[in-house]
Amino acid sequence: MENIKYIVVVQCHIVKERCSGYFCEKSFHERDGGFSVYPKEKPFRINYMTCGGCCGKAVLRKLSNLTRKIYKHEKVSKDEIMVQLSSCMTQDNYHSPKCVHLDYIKELIKRAGLVHLEGTRISRKAEERRLLGEYRR
Ligand code: SF4
Ligand code: SF4
Repeated sequence: MENIKYIVVVQCHIVKERCSGYFCEKSFHERDGGFSVYPKEKPFRINYMTCGGCCGKAVLRKLSNLTRKIYKHEKVSKDEIMVQLSSCMTQDNYHSPKCVHLDYIKELIKRAGLVHLEGTRISRKAEERRLLGEYRR
């Protein structure tokens, strides 16, 4: 974790047809939810991209493009990059149940030679609904 200087947020392509991503950005800015692991005093670069649509296959080529380019231009290596999967992919939420291709997408991230964390913005209301069992965990 100390190595990490570059975060790639991968978000659900279908959800992003409606969502501006504002709450993910706000959550990173405030370092809450899934971003609470990143110290506020440390500067991070951050890149937001979608999975490219079902079944998420584009994740591999997008991440491979990124790792190639960022190493070529800035010598940022894979162990300095963290993939952060958006909450709308990893948890049952207002938009839909979690992504049905989640395990496949995780496999692609691994194949790209990267590690990942789950969760970005955690909605208070959705969390309440998960506790009540209205949304599955
Ligand atoms: S977690 Fe929320 S803000 Fe982020 S992309 Fe998904 S729906 Fe949008
Ligand atoms: S693969 Fe998953 S994250 Fe990507 S668009 Fe489909 S449901 Fe959303």
